[in-house]
Parts: sequence; structure tokens; C-alpha cells
Amino acid sequence: MIAACFCIFQCQNGHVACFSCWSRLTNKCHICSNEANFVRNIALEKVVESVKSACSYAKWGCSKLVSYSLRNAHEESCLFSPSKCPIPGCGYRGFTGWWSGHFHTNHNNDSLRFSYGQCFKVSLEISVPFLVLLSEDDHLFLLLNKNMMPYGHALSVGCLRTGNLNWNFFYEMKATSEGNTENSLQLKASVTNTKDWRGLHPTEAFLLVPYAFCRSGKLTLFVSIERVADVR
Ligand SMILES: [Zn+2]
Ligand SMILES: [Zn+2]
Ligand SMILES: [Zn+2]
Ligand SMILES: [Zn+2]
Repeated sequence: MIAACFCIFQCQNGHVACFSCWSRLTNKCHICSNEANFVRNIALEKVVESVKSACSYAKWGCSKLVSYSLRNAHEESCLFSPSKCPIPGCGYRGFTGWWSGHFHTNHNNDSLRFSYGQCFKVSLEISVPFLVLLSEDDHLFLLLNKNMMPYGHALSVGCLRTGNLNWNFFYEMKATSEGNTENSLQLKASVTNTKDWRGLHPTEAFLLVPYAFCRSGKLTLFVSIERVADVR
């Protein structure tokens, strides 16, 4: 069964109209102007449905051929579809693995570059909700920070993309208390994918850092992100 909006109708003289045109017609045919008893033209619907064309993100690597009726659903979940830049007020849509150019020209001081498998130090302003981390292969990661009153800050790492395209990512994060350096916390978790970050924080795994760790308003973290080929 084809979804209603992909129906094709015809009058008794064989003049056809797509669903959206048909729904704006009264009971008169738009071509012969006769009083029309519209019926569905299922043969033509099947012809239209059998025509498959390349996904809009073919040039970014998607090799799927999709029919007219399934196009929107596919492109919404396509691994090659773009994500919205997380910087507030920036409407740019970027593709997975193609972020550094945009940050270089538009938000040059708002990101931190890192290499996979190498531990790096992050000095996190505890009032900011996220920090952009750009990898050596141009993936955009978000170090997310959420104030969890009355306990402390929940920290996690997400990747701005639709799904596991070629790679899986894992991370480790360590925080040491400012007041008592014998107190430290550590998390090892998989990176959550997020197509567009809208203030949501992953709940699967996060590091809950007590306020005592960041009394000065800054939190020092040691982070490392690992990249593993996605074999399917
Ligand atoms: Zn039409
Ligand atoms: Zn007609
Ligand atoms: Zn696609
Ligand atoms: Zn931007």
C-alpha cells in the first residue's frame, strides 16, 4: 500500500493528477473540465514507485537508490546526511568528516583539535554547556556538560553524526579534584551519536563530577578518544 500522499488520480478520460494537485481540485477535471469521478491509477503509481534515483547525499558517499515515496524517510536517517552546527546562532549544516573548514573560517577559537588515541588536557569552563573537539579526520565531537543540581556536573562525549559511518568511537575521561588530588574519577564509555545537538545529554553513560572538583569555576579533564573501524 502506497502512502496517501503518493496516490495518483485520473478522470474518466484518463487525465491524471498527483495527490496534492488532486486535493485542490473540486469535482472538475483540470484538463477536460468535465465533471469528474476521480479514481486512482494504480498502474501509474507502480511505475512512479519503480523509478529509483540516487539519494541527495550521493556526492558525499551514499550509494542508495531510493524511490519517490521513501526518499524523505531515507534522507532523514541517511548516514551521509548533514548535521547542524552546534554553535548557537549558526545555521550551517555540515557533513560527517568535513568540519574543520567551517570552524576555521567561522568559529576559529571555539574548538580544540586532537588526535585519536592520545590523551589531551581540557580546561573546561564549568558554565559552558559544551566544548567542540575536532579530530584529525575532521569529525566533530562534543564534550557535553550538564549541571546536575545538587550533585555536580555530568560530563560525556558525543559525535555529531547520524550513525556509525565507518567508525565506532570510544572515550576515556579523567577528572581530579582541585581540593584533594587524591580524589579522582574516571569514565570509559562509547561515544553517543547525535545528529543535531539540541541541548540533550546522553544518559547511557556520563561522568558525574562533584562541585568540589571545580570550585574555581574550571575543571581540568584528561580525555582520550579512540577510533575503531566499524565492521559489519
Ligand atoms: Zn501534481
Ligand atoms: Zn479529464
Ligand atoms: Zn542516502
Ligand atoms: Zn557554525
